[in-house]
Amino acid sequence: MYSVKIRSIKLKIRGRVQGVGFRPFVYRIATQLDLKGYVLNSSKGVEILLQGDKESISKFISQLKHNAPPLSVIDRIEEEEIEDIEYKDFSIKKSKKEEGFVFISPDIAVCEDCLREMRDPKDRRYRYPFINCTNCGPRYTIIEDIPYDRPKTTMKKFKMCEECEREYNDPLSRRFHAQPISCHDCGPSIWIEGIKTEDIFKSIGELLKNGKILAIKGLGGFHIACDATNKEAISNLRERKMRPHKPFALMMKDIDMVKKYCFVSEDEEKLLTSPQCPIVLLKIRDIKDIQENIAPGYKYLGVMLPYTPYHYLMFDYIDFPIVMTSANISDEPIIKDNEEAKKGLKNIVDFFVLHDRDIRHRVDDSVVFIQDGMMQFIRRSRGYAPDPIKLPISVRPSLALGPELKNTFALAKENIAFLSPHIGDLKNIETLSVFEETINEYIKLFKIEPLIIVQDMHPAYITSQIADKLKNYVEVKEIQHHKAHIFSLMLDNGYKDDLIGFAFDGTGYGEDGNIWGGEVFVGNIDGLERVMHFDYFPIAGGDSAIQHPGRIAISYLHRFFPEYTKKIEHRFKPFEVELIKKMVDSGKVFHTSSLGRIFDLVSGILGIIDKITYEAQSAIYLEMIAMEDDNNDVYPFSIEGEKIKIDTIVEAIFHDIDKGKDRAYIARKFHNTIVKIIISASLKLREEVGINTVGFSGGVFQNRLLLHLLLDALKDMPFDVLLHKHVPSNDGGISLGQLVMAKSDL
Ligand code: ZN
Ligand code: ZN
Ligand code: FE
Repeated sequence: MYSVKIRSIKLKIRGRVQGVGFRPFVYRIATQLDLKGYVLNSSKGVEILLQGDKESISKFISQLKHNAPPLSVIDRIEEEEIEDIEYKDFSIKKSKKEEGFVFISPDIAVCEDCLREMRDPKDRRYRYPFINCTNCGPRYTIIEDIPYDRPKTTMKKFKMCEECEREYNDPLSRRFHAQPISCHDCGPSIWIEGIKTEDIFKSIGELLKNGKILAIKGLGGFHIACDATNKEAISNLRERKMRPHKPFALMMKDIDMVKKYCFVSEDEEKLLTSPQCPIVLLKIRDIKDIQENIAPGYKYLGVMLPYTPYHYLMFDYIDFPIVMTSANISDEPIIKDNEEAKKGLKNIVDFFVLHDRDIRHRVDDSVVFIQDGMMQFIRRSRGYAPDPIKLPISVRPSLALGPELKNTFALAKENIAFLSPHIGDLKNIETLSVFEETINEYIKLFKIEPLIIVQDMHPAYITSQIADKLKNYVEVKEIQHHKAHIFSLMLDNGYKDDLIGFAFDGTGYGEDGNIWGGEVFVGNIDGLERVMHFDYFPIAGGDSAIQHPGRIAISYLHRFFPEYTKKIEHRFKPFEVELIKKMVDSGKVFHTSSLGRIFDLVSGILGIIDKITYEAQSAIYLEMIAMEDDNNDVYPFSIEGEKIKIDTIVEAIFHDIDKGKDRAYIARKFHNTIVKIIISASLKLREEVGINTVGFSGGVFQNRLLLHLLLDALKDMPFDVLLHKHVPSNDGGISLGQLVMAKSDL
C-alpha cells in the first residue's frame, strides 16, 4: 500500500498562549485535519508536534494564525522539521519546563458565555460566584509559578469534583484546562464575616442600601464599597479613610446606568465593556443624585462595570452606583489577604465580604481615559499587566527600578519588557516591601535574571538605596528622570529616530542638581540633549510648599515681582509670608523648571486652593476651572536661548485680575499659553535641527484640556506626533524608558 509522505513538524509558539484556551484549540484543529502528534505548554510558550501530509499541515498553520482564541496573542511561530517516532493519535501532553521567555495572561473580566450560564437556572453553575472558563477569570493574580497549571495556582487547595474534572480533561469543553475551574460543589466560597444569611448577595445589597461601608475582596485585592448616592456613607468613608477630597472610583450596574450619569462615546463604551474592564474617566453629565463629594471639583468621574461574577450577583440587589475604591491605608499597597484586611480595615469598614480563593499577586484596577480618540493610561494594572511590551531595541537582562511615586518597575530581556502593575509610593515602608516582593516574583515567573539594574539619578530616592545594596552583584546604571520619560515615550511607540521631546511634569532630579520638570530634549534612542527648559524660579520650603500653592506664588513673586506680593499676602498669616520671604532672600531655596509648579504658581495667585490633600490637586482644579471658559487669548512669553521665560505671563495675569477678569478666563488663557509655548518651541527647534517629530511625556499631559488644545493646534502643523500608547505618561511609565540604559550595544 502506498501512503502519502508523512512529515514531522515541530512548532514552537511564542506569545500569550497559555491560560487562554490555546491547547484545546490546537487539539480541535489537529483532530479535524486528522493530524497526529501532541501539544504541550512549555515555559516558553506552546510546543506542537504535527505528523501528517504537507497539505494538512499547512492548513493547520493557516488556521492557527487566523482563528486563534480571542485572548491569545501569537508573537512568533518557529517551525522545524524533525525526526520522531510515529504517533497514533493527537494528544495534549503534560507541561514541559525549559529555560526562556514566558508570557502570563492578565486577569480577565467574566465573559458573556459564563454570564449566560450563571443566569441559567438549569445550568449547574447557576448563580455560581466564581464561574470562569478558558476565556475569562483570574490569571496573574492566582499564579504561583510556571508553567501555568492548577497545582501552581492558589486554586490548588480546591480538589475538583468529578464533573469539573471531566470538563477540565475534555478538549472539547469550554473549560478544558481552565486552571481556576470550579463549581458550587468543589470551588471557593464567599461570605459576609459574622453574618448568616440565605442569600449573601441580597444581604450585601441591603447593607449598602443602609449606608454601611463594606470591604469586598475582589480579583487583585480588596475594595471599600458604599452607596455612592448616600451622603452620610460617603462622608463617613472620607473621614475614616482620612481622604478629604481625592475622587472615588465608582462601579455601576450596567452601561445604561453609566450613561445616565456620564457622557459615553462609542470608544469609551468599548473600553468599559472590554475584557480588561478598566476604570474609565468619563465626562459628567448629571450627578445630582450622586453626592457632590464623590469627586469634589471634578468634571470627570472614574467609572467601571462589574468584572467578577459576584459583582454581577451583587448588582441583582443594587440599583444605585457604588463607590469601589482600592482598600488600603493612606498610600500603602492594596490589601489582598483576609487577615490583612480584617486587621488593616477594621476602623474603616463596617463589614467584610471575604472569599477563600487566595490572591497571590495584588493588582489594582487600571485607570484610563480617551481624549481626542486616543486611549491614555493613568494607571496600568489589572487587565493589562503583566502583558509584555515589545521594544524596538534589544536590551540585556535588566531591571529598571522606576520612580519613587506611582512606582512600577520593568524587567526586560532582548526585545521584551514586563512592566509591573502599579506598586505605589515607595516612600512608604509597606509599599517598599511589596515592591521588593513583586520584583522577586517577576524574576521567578518570567525567568529573567537581571545583569543590569537601572535607577533614577536622584541620590535620595529609595530605589538608589536598593541599587546600592545590589551593586556588588550586578551592574548599576543611572538615568535622569525626564530623559527616562522621553525614552519611555519612544519605546512605547516603537520609535528610535530623531525627535523633539517635551517632558513636562511635577518633579524630577535634574543633572545640574535643580528640580526639573519643564524640559525640552532633542535626540534619538542613542542620547538626548536638553535644549530648552522653563526658566528656573525659587521655591521656599520644599515639600510643604508643594502642598500650599500660595506659598509657591509668594516665593516667586517676592523674587521677581515684590510689588505684586501684597496683592495676595492678605490670604496668609503674616509670619508665614515673612518666613518665605526670608528663605528666598537668604537663598535657602531650591530652583525649579517644573511646569507642574508653574501650574501651582498660577493656582496660588488665583487662590484656587489653600492646601492640597493629593498630588497635582491644584493643577487639576486649574484645569477644571479653565474648562468653564473658551477664550482663545494668549499671554505674552518669550524663549531666550534655552530659557522659556514666564515673567511676562505672571505680570499679564495680574493685569487681567486688575481688569476684573474671572478665574476661568485666566485659567483658560494660561492653558492656551502653554500650548502656544510648545508650538513655538517646536517650530523654533524644527528650524534649527530639522526634526519633524514631536513627542510628549510627563504627568502634565494627563491634563485633558491641555492635551486637547495641543492636539488641536498640531493638527495643521508639519509634525508627526508621539503620545503614549501602552504605559502612562506620568511616572508610572518611567521604568520602561529607564531600560534604554541596558541597550545591548552599550
Ligand atoms: Zn468565561
Ligand atoms: Zn466542581
Ligand atoms: Fe515625572
